[in-house]
Amino acid sequence: MMRLVDTHCHLDFDQLSDNLDEHIREAARYGITQFVVPGITLTQSKALLDFKRRVPECRIGFGLHPYFLDLGSEGDMEELWIRAQQHRGHLSAVGECGIDAQCDHLALQQKLFLEHIKLANTLALPLIVHHRQSHHLIAQAFKSVKPQFGGVIHAFSGSIQQAQYYIERGFKLGIGGTITYPRAQKTHAVVKALPLSSFVLETDAPSMPLNGFQGQPNLPKRLHQVFEHFCQLRSEPKQMIAEQLYSSSCALFSI
Ligand SMILES: [Zn+2]
Repeated sequence: MMRLVDTHCHLDFDQLSDNLDEHIREAARYGITQFVVPGITLTQSKALLDFKRRVPECRIGFGLHPYFLDLGSEGDMEELWIRAQQHRGHLSAVGECGIDAQCDHLALQQKLFLEHIKLANTLALPLIVHHRQSHHLIAQAFKSVKPQFGGVIHAFSGSIQQAQYYIERGFKLGIGGTITYPRAQKTHAVVKALPLSSFVLETDAPSMPLNGFQGQPNLPKRLHQVFEHFCQLRSEPKQMIAEQLYSSSCALFSI
């Protein structure tokens, strides 16, 4: 049986956690047995420690997501550092962090992103990077603090050149439900063009519904459909694709 890792799934969000056992059971039917659950705020990151104890299928990250900065307060990054160092053994990543040009507080986002990169370097962890219309700002941050343990560019949707930029710096491209839409031609081209080892798969559930499921919460089991679409864009046999994705995901997040 094929094994798949959902490398970006918000299992702790109410929309999923209300029926968590069912979602995990349904995903397991498709061989999806491991999940990476990102941190988004300080409070939620701390709560993830307990979540991980209850849900052995998941790995977790600590981070401050650009969307949710208004929910936090000024000392959060400092406390995140302390907590992350205390609980290093429970962490598989730093993030979800990054820069989103459509969110407020751009200067603060940039400052916090640098702090996340430093934290990841200090703890020898990969980064889960959120980006939107911000490739140039991410590149600027990488120039000022070089990430030493790679990570994943979550929901990658850029060009082949941008993809290569990240791959050269030790990052994987997180490919999700976007590829199920015919309009995602740029991402299709990237999936076709680059080595299989460049990619990991993700749902971002409950966000980013697949084509045909618009308006509904996304579900972890749909990683299976992302995988099927991914395979259609590649020339390798399915089993080989599954094995490479699995080993890339495990290596990245120490699964
Ligand atoms: Zn996310």
